[in-house]
Amino acid sequence: MTLGFRDTWADISLDAIEHNTRTTKAMLAPSCRFMAVVKADGYGHGAAETAEAALRGGADHLAVAFVDEALHLRRSGITAPVLVLGYTPPHAVEPAVRAGVSLTVFTEDVLAEAIACTDRLAMPLRVHFKADTGMTRVGVTTPEELVRLVRLAAASRYVQTEGLFTHFACADGPDDRYTREQFAAFEAYRATLRQNGLHVPLHHCCNSAATLRYPELHLDLIRFGISLYGLLPSEECRPEGRHLQPAMSLRTRIVSLRRIPPGCTVSYGGTFIAQRGTLIATLPVGYADGLSRRLSGRGSALVRGRRAPIAGRVCMDQTMLDVTDVPGAAVGDEVTLFGSSGGSDLPVDEVAELMDTISYETVCLIGKRVPRVYT
Ligand code: PLP
Repeated sequence: MTLGFRDTWADISLDAIEHNTRTTKAMLAPSCRFMAVVKADGYGHGAAETAEAALRGGADHLAVAFVDEALHLRRSGITAPVLVLGYTPPHAVEPAVRAGVSLTVFTEDVLAEAIACTDRLAMPLRVHFKADTGMTRVGVTTPEELVRLVRLAAASRYVQTEGLFTHFACADGPDDRYTREQFAAFEAYRATLRQNGLHVPLHHCCNSAATLRYPELHLDLIRFGISLYGLLPSEECRPEGRHLQPAMSLRTRIVSLRRIPPGCTVSYGGTFIAQRGTLIATLPVGYADGLSRRLSGRGSALVRGRRAPIAGRVCMDQTMLDVTDVPGAAVGDEVTLFGSSGGSDLPVDEVAELMDTISYETVCLIGKRVPRVYT
């Protein structure tokens, strides 16, 4: 990707994504498959580039949230199995079938359309049924409902039942009780299928947190999202996530420097008031790029290996730093807004906390006008 004419970009290490896949896969039982979750444009890292890196690292499947995202992967030349994790409206079934994309199913209307469409086209479709065990978002809510849908699929000529899955709500939390309860509920769905003589090849329930913390729950496949990108779902996962390498660093350059006297204010609202002679650096990056306005007066950035505080309000396209304590700071200096630079780190988690959110949102928010530079 070209950098364009603006000195703000996100460095993405595809080696880190490949490494995170390979090293995590090595922690799984040999029979357990690895599904790389690349929805939301690969959590802001670029869906196709991330998917290819994960496949090089040994990923067996890819997952996205919506059919459009799956079609983007296909248009990028990716032929690996892709599962749509979210709800697919009936009118989106045909494009999925034509593209050889697998769908998550939990309602009869979508399954009926899948059966009708595959019959019409004489083309196969793989489906994964979703069971709700306590996330209360999507999925069938009783084992009987599941049996009915799996039976309907079994009677179809072209719809192949490939999986059954559920999603944990609290696998990243300090207490394992809710996850154990959800797993027990999932076991009940599985047992009911068995009692009814229905076979589903792949059972899965683990997101990144559960993959890292509950190896005994891996089953046939894990769905690895945030940690594919080297980030931890929570502090609780830190010991088990030691091997992960963060993939994204957000960078810009100083475009203007000015020395201001005590009492001079900086940015909208004049919330920063210089207490001494202060050196202010202007950066061509703002909240329209995903650098949240919540970082105003709270965040910092790395310049020449030092932390420089954000001075005053983050603007839409520009942000000011107090670089008084950065010896030699100069126009053109590279600035790291999160990620690593030389030997210094400014973790995404730290920035996310100041934004009152989690790393997931921080990386997803990096805007489209920020070029991704792959290394
Ligand atoms: N599985 C499902 C159904 C999801 O919705 C997600 C993400 O939200 C994931 C797996 C991946 O979760 P994580 O990014 O926490 O690994």
